[in-house]
Amino acid sequence: MKMSKILKKRSYVLLRGAYGDMNGRTDKRTRPIKIGGLIIGGANLIRVQSMCNTDTADIKATVKQIHSLENAGCEIIRVAVKDIQSARKLAEIKKKINIPLVADIHFDWRLAVEAAEHADKIRINPGNIGAKENVAKVVKACQKRNIPIRIGVNSGSLKALKKIKGKPTWSAQRWAEIMVKEAFDEISVLERMKFKDIFVSLKADDIERTILANKIFSSKSDIPLHLGITEAGGFLSGTVKSAMGLGMLLCEGIGDTIRVSLTEAPIIQVRAAYEILKALRLRQFGPDIISCPTCGRCQADIRKVVKKLEEKIYSDPKLLKLSEGKKIAIMGCVVNGPGEARDADFGIAGGKGAGVWIEKGRSVKTVKESQWLNEIIKKINKQ
Ligand code: SF4
Repeated sequence: MKMSKILKKRSYVLLRGAYGDMNGRTDKRTRPIKIGGLIIGGANLIRVQSMCNTDTADIKATVKQIHSLENAGCEIIRVAVKDIQSARKLAEIKKKINIPLVADIHFDWRLAVEAAEHADKIRINPGNIGAKENVAKVVKACQKRNIPIRIGVNSGSLKALKKIKGKPTWSAQRWAEIMVKEAFDEISVLERMKFKDIFVSLKADDIERTILANKIFSSKSDIPLHLGITEAGGFLSGTVKSAMGLGMLLCEGIGDTIRVSLTEAPIIQVRAAYEILKALRLRQFGPDIISCPTCGRCQADIRKVVKKLEEKIYSDPKLLKLSEGKKIAIMGCVVNGPGEARDADFGIAGGKGAGVWIEKGRSVKTVKESQWLNEIIKKINKQ
């Protein structure tokens, strides 16, 4: 078989056949579980999560941030519950928001028990929640309200780390195996109590351990997985790391929810998560903006146009919806732009002071540079 045919066949399997598409999963390896009004796992869509960076006890600030994240497409929101005040405030927060609320608890099982009264899901890190009987109390509280628990195993807070001094010399494979073992230790505590609404996350701050741990776990269990590279880093490095790590797992059908953990505003994390899912054709969210890198032929500020267009679309739910799935081209010159953007729905090929309006592969009219953005927005509004 010719190489081009092999590549074609492979990319089809990679992008469409193996794990699903924008309508849901073809791979039903995980059990479906309800969180608030969403069903996660099984053949359902991969959902985007983020986490607030406000003080949870500050209801006004937390609700404000959640509302802006809802507008940006966030589908599940997690908040840190660091004290009993924060745990009690969850009741009020829950009433004012529209997406499932997850309470993130470290160290104190009493906070988890209180949070379980109000939240749609509890996330605990068994490595630091304490004795098994305390985990059992959390389970009982969740059973009472029929809400799931996520067992969040992070490479940096493993129980096994407490037994050694200094930096471990484990291989990536060994780290991953320990992470998986600790997840299963906690799962067995939950399952002994007939608790089945479990999610697991296995996160490391690098791709290798994250991928290994999730692959090992996924080969042994039908429990839905929340994916993330923990403490991924700043905007560029963290996005690349997350896209690579999460992308490789998602391509294999592994992962039911995702979070991109950047040292950035939560809204950027949501955007990055959707870009990963969009790139893999697993979700559609807003348009596909195709823009050239520019070169010596470019005589317009294409970078500014793209930036402004993204700002406008992603801050306006109506534009976001209307532009969904549209391929919008912003090209730097009329020499190559129209040709390169032939499969775009519409867009601009820039020139000096004016550009060519492109529509479905044809150059339609000339538009002044000052009007490019308006013309694109006008076109989106007509969709
Ligand atoms: S579209 Fe034009 S300006 Fe942009 S990279 Fe290609 S040749 Fe250069």
